[in-house]
Amino acid sequence: MLLTEKSTAEKFILSSETNTSPNQRLLPITATINDKNHLVIGGCDVSELVTQFGSPLYILDEETLRTSASQYRDGFKEFYAGESQVIYASKAWSCMAIVSILASEGIGFDVVSGGELYTTTKALEMSGFTTEQISNKIYLHGNNKSVTELELAIDSECKIIVDNWLELETLARLTAEKQKSVNILIRLTPGIECHTHDYIRTGSIDSKFGFDANQLEGVFAFVKEKSFINCIGLHAHIGSQIFELQPHNDLAGVLADWFKKALDYGLPLTELNVGGGLGIRYTESDDPPSITDWVKTVAQAVTKACEERNLALPKLIAEPGRSMVATACVTAYTVGGRKVIPDMRTYVSVDGGMSDNPRPITYQSLYQVVIANKMRSENAETVTIAGKHCESGDILIKNIEIPDTQPGDTLVVLATGAYNYSMASNYNRIGRPAAVLVNQGEANLIIRRETYDDLVRQDLLPSRLTVNN
Ligand SMILES: *Cc1c(COP(=O)(O)O)cnc(C)c1O
Repeated sequence: MLLTEKSTAEKFILSSETNTSPNQRLLPITATINDKNHLVIGGCDVSELVTQFGSPLYILDEETLRTSASQYRDGFKEFYAGESQVIYASKAWSCMAIVSILASEGIGFDVVSGGELYTTTKALEMSGFTTEQISNKIYLHGNNKSVTELELAIDSECKIIVDNWLELETLARLTAEKQKSVNILIRLTPGIECHTHDYIRTGSIDSKFGFDANQLEGVFAFVKEKSFINCIGLHAHIGSQIFELQPHNDLAGVLADWFKKALDYGLPLTELNVGGGLGIRYTESDDPPSITDWVKTVAQAVTKACEERNLALPKLIAEPGRSMVATACVTAYTVGGRKVIPDMRTYVSVDGGMSDNPRPITYQSLYQVVIANKMRSENAETVTIAGKHCESGDILIKNIEIPDTQPGDTLVVLATGAYNYSMASNYNRIGRPAAVLVNQGEANLIIRRETYDDLVRQDLLPSRLTVNN
């Protein structure tokens, strides 16, 4: 091998180095290769992490997460003259350590259920934030919030992004009963198309989310009459894993038009929430804009839209999920058996699959892999990486070139921070993997691996079913 020749995994690391925006990289920003030819993340040897914490294992790089957060936060400070607040779309991955890290970077939280709200407030309390610091930066989303969830939101004084008439009427009733006011934003369907998977497209007219244009004036009139409902802003979100900047640009105009109308109705609007949706690089062919370019586009579009309508700059809220966490995490699996079908396909199985990463089977998502203990080995064969679930569709990656592997090797799937743990299940009664946080050579367990006892914890056995009865 010539000295100048590099393995594919080395090239991933080298090509990543030129990208300062985490969402444009394949690997976390701390990724290197040590003299054993092993992948190192956050100063920790990935194969050794698997030995220590078990397999499969989610490995979260603190520095990458903090870098994404600070690029969003500082970008708005640089490109937007008004106030701004970045809130993290918790549904991408909500757990106490992530909440704590992001809060320390000044990030707020978009939550979509009582459970996410509970996780967030619990993590913030335990991290030492005061209620006042917390509630002002939490926003509850959802197209079918339960009465319990709405009450929890009113009681904890977070803001609510109202999605539909039933919710508005319920809120009017609850706040009057409690004699307690609530700050709301109104979610509207902007009618903007973008190119992404149908299941994660939310901005077009045919969407289950938000009020249609023809409902909005009725909504404005309704909330104006309700003394316990303060309508402080408008919200829209156009979809996820979006590489184009134009839809975000168009959205600013749509939102600013409605913002002006709502002000004309006499509503005390101060906040404009433009949603999230910036895509990330899962494979080499993905080419998303950088976090900073996205922020710049959004900030400049909102500024221009407001200037054109003579509006004072509102507080600008953005709610990225995927691009905040995806690249910060990888999933390490242990290679198991293989099945060779001559002239057709070679399956290499790993010890996880659709229960820890349901994205390939749900969205036909593509991923890139490296072999953590063979980082300088050349690719040697084309294989299909199969999960261990009893389902033919449980394929993590089809037809990918990797080095020669043996059972026991550590296969690492890249960019698994978003919509992996948060969508993980116990399908086939497989416990969800553990997650470790790595930083400067230190590894801390942040989510315990589920045990067999965890799997039966919620089960009950009526006594009449036991043999001695
Ligand atoms: C999912 C979602 C987001 C985050 O989307 P990403 O593509 O993960 O950035 C933001 N806002 C709302 C309302 C969402 O539903």
